Amino acid sequence: MTSCIIIGAGMAGLTAARELMNHQWNVTVLDKGRGVGGSMATRRLLSTRADHGAQYFSVRTPDFREYVQQLQAVGVVKEWNLQEANFDHPRYIGSGGMSAVPKYLADGLTIKTGERVVLIERTDTGCRVRTDTGHHFETDKLILTIPAPQAYTLLRDSNIELAAAELAAFSTITYQPCLAVMVVLNRPSRIPTPGVLSFEKGDISWVADNEQKGIATEQPTVTIHATPAFSRDNLEGDLNEAGQKLLDQLTDWIPAESIEQFQVHRWRYSLAEKRYPQAYVVCNTPFEMLMGGDGFGMGNVEGAFQSGLQMARHLIG
Ligand SMILES: Cc1cc2nc3c(=O)[nH]c(=O)nc-3n(C[C@H](O)[C@H](O)[C@H](O)COP(=O)(O)OP(=O)(O)OC[C@H]3O[C@@H](n4cnc5c(N)ncnc54)[C@H](O)[C@@H]3O)c2cc1C
Repeated sequence: MTSCIIIGAGMAGLTAARELMNHQWNVTVLDKGRGVGGSMATRRLLSTRADHGAQYFSVRTPDFREYVQQLQAVGVVKEWNLQEANFDHPRYIGSGGMSAVPKYLADGLTIKTGERVVLIERTDTGCRVRTDTGHHFETDKLILTIPAPQAYTLLRDSNIELAAAELAAFSTITYQPCLAVMVVLNRPSRIPTPGVLSFEKGDISWVADNEQKGIATEQPTVTIHATPAFSRDNLEGDLNEAGQKLLDQLTDWIPAESIEQFQVHRWRYSLAEKRYPQAYVVCNTPFEMLMGGDGFGMGNVEGAFQSGLQMARHLIG
């Protein structure tokens, strides 16, 4: 049985892992986070919750459409009716939060969380990866789905030389940062139906009412995404101060007296702004290593799915 280690348990890594597992590969997924999902994230706040990463996803490709239909049939995904917000095509969300999708994908896979990969070493038959907990894992093949800047650092620290074309792939990829504010309210927000606000100007790009979205069932919550410019300017500063600055601009919809608590999450690698055009790259390394994720191809949830699927298909042959 051929073995494969996948670094990153986001949409790309989990999709690749499922496909390989379905073809009887011996797959292990490693992630530095406490749970699976990467930027498809839902946080529990008090007794309620808020999506603080990806807010929804769209479906354009046949493979993804087929998979999303399966997820809909088992109740993991549902359509988010945003017609009143003038969205031209359907948007989908995880039932109970976006993290429902990666959690479903993860079922039955061997996944080790809390394992940050810090080194990759060549072996006679493939490679060995070492993590910051002191564990190491041997494998025939390796798939990297972590954001390109982090992958670049990992490969440099591992003294793995890349060909010029592979280095060019890395230098193509850039991400926008995003500060996400999750707010717990003691009463419903004043955001009109269907529960989203998006702005062309100012410091805020997106606001979603998680109660109207159907995922904050215990107590209302709202998610605010700052613009890339505001996020960049405030990324290393006091996050609470930055969160308060954003809330002060939304008092028409979220009055100060309705706020019970808020938390701010710093996404250093939010939307992949400049991407490598193909869904993955096969590295010219002594062992078989593929790089993918949302920096490759379409650059969103669907793009991460496609990248993972196509990497797995490449290995399966
Ligand atoms: C704020 C925000 C809003 C977004 N909104 C949308 C949206 O509305 N619609 C949409 O389609 N997309 C959206 N996206 C993008 C979408 O979430 C991503 O494109 C997609 O989920 C990325 O999946 P991925 O598997 O490529 O990467 P990720 O989800 O980033 O997964 C990579 C994983 O690698 C792990 N990792 C990193 N380094 C290491 C290491 N050294 N060792 C082990 N593990 C490591 C991380 O913990 C992470 O879990 C948004 C993203 C963000 C952050």
